[in-house]
Amino acid sequence: QLKGGQTQNRAGIMNSAAVNLMANILLVEDDDDLAELVQMHLKFQGHDVVRTNSIEKAQALYQGSQFDLIVLDRGLPDGDGLDFCRLLRQQEDWAPVLMLTARDTELDKVLGLEAGVDDYITKPFSVLEFQARVRNILRRLSHSEAIVKDPQSTESVMSFGRLTIQ
Ligand code: CA
Repeated sequence: QLKGGQTQNRAGIMNSAAVNLMANILLVEDDDDLAELVQMHLKFQGHDVVRTNSIEKAQALYQGSQFDLIVLDRGLPDGDGLDFCRLLRQQEDWAPVLMLTARDTELDKVLGLEAGVDDYITKPFSVLEFQARVRNILRRLSHSEAIVKDPQSTESVMSFGRLTIQ
């Protein structure tokens, strides 16, 4: 639901099916088949995807680039993906994290949320649900950022990191 006070233009853009959310996504998953599938679907949606399979490599990649979203597996060869998320939050880095987890217990979900993940999805998951959760996070992210309006254009452009809606 759109709140009152938003401009007609913004509301129009938000309601448009043509909204195009393109993000730079870091995918941390050590199951190659699953990673391949997820990467393919994200790319098909127009996102840039950098894929890796360990916490150590994820940290190195994260420091060298700017990501709009981190899709993070928990069971990684060098530890629990949640540790990577905790580390980011300790550094006051609030980059959105979507956790992939094979563990379906209430405790695991609570642990994930307390570690600072924004959302989680339990494996095995449907591609459609995954895409919807990604879109949801990116939409929330775009709503929380200020609109940068180009006076030469009738359209509003919002940006956060490399995520741009136009
Ligand atoms: Ca895994």
